[in-house]
Amino acid sequence: MLLREVDYARPATVEEAISLLAKYEGARPLAGGQTIVNVMKARVAAPDVLVDLADLDELRTIGFSSDGLLEIGAMVTYTQLMGSSEVEVARPILAEVASTIADVQVRNRGTVGGNVCVSDPTNHLPPLLTTLGATFTIQGGSGERTVSAEEFFIGVYVTAVGEGELLTKIGVPPSSGSGDGFAGVTIGKHGTYIVNAAATISGDGARIALGCVGATPVRATAMEERLAGSDFSEESIRSAADGLGASLDPPSDVHGSSDFRRHLAEVSAVRAVSQAAERRTGA
Ligand SMILES: Cc1cc2nc3c(=O)[nH]c(=O)nc-3n(C[C@H](O)[C@H](O)[C@H](O)COP(=O)(O)OP(=O)(O)OC[C@H]3O[C@@H](n4cnc5c(N)ncnc54)[C@H](O)[C@@H]3O)c2cc1C
Repeated sequence: MLLREVDYARPATVEEAISLLAKYEGARPLAGGQTIVNVMKARVAAPDVLVDLADLDELRTIGFSSDGLLEIGAMVTYTQLMGSSEVEVARPILAEVASTIADVQVRNRGTVGGNVCVSDPTNHLPPLLTTLGATFTIQGGSGERTVSAEEFFIGVYVTAVGEGELLTKIGVPPSSGSGDGFAGVTIGKHGTYIVNAAATISGDGARIALGCVGATPVRATAMEERLAGSDFSEESIRSAADGLGASLDPPSDVHGSSDFRRHLAEVSAVRAVSQAAERRTGA
């Protein structure tokens, strides 16, 4: 289906982008276009103005903050993540997971900011960034604020980014000896996830988040608590995951019933935690 007519703006600065978003009701940012253009073609969304972020080079950088946080600009593509030496040093799981998103065309165009701003429960990055304890910096006409993943993801297609605001960057703590894992079951080899799980194990214990089982990433807090002080043997991980599925209320659709997703949640969490445990270097 063809796009309906839409006004298009290509600002040169973040400030100009924010003022355009605030000025026009029904204006939406355009990042990689890999979701928004498809939903516009399907007539599910119909913004009046697209504010293209393509020229905002300041949103395309990857670097470190003065206190050592890995900072990823909202317009960084999955391909950029995969080739970044900063990501490789600080949090290689980000590149590893990005390399499994869809196909090469989507990875060349799709952005980290777009992935989280669309807040699709089947997207790869929301549960991963939740587990890693990422922070999200949002800029608007009245300044800048930084929120946690728990505050950022509000519902399906709803985030803490308000009208006239932009997500500018995501901060990720470096791994410092912790181990990260990501596992799940997809529709086909590089298809959308039916259920996924991300895990990280550090000196503070395990953090686990599940995707595709709720509107936003779901922390497996009971499993995390059962793993406190664990030796992370296969037996202890399996036993900690016992009952995780029963605590969830996942959706049922053509790709899997609620019960199937409950089962996959336990399997995926065990695999993600086992992978994270194997990868710890500070253990
Ligand atoms: C065939 C196909 C398969 C896919 N499979 C997967 C998959 O398995 N897993 C997965 O994770 N993703 C998948 N995707 C989605 C892909 O990852 C998209 O790139 C991503 O969802 C959106 O990123 P984008 O840069 O293209 O954003 P866009 O489509 O440009 O924007 C998405 C939304 O975010 C808003 N937005 C974008 N950037 C900002 C910002 N900086 N501040 C505020 N709002 C912003 C836009 O206004 C829009 O509402 C797939 C896409 C396709 C086409």
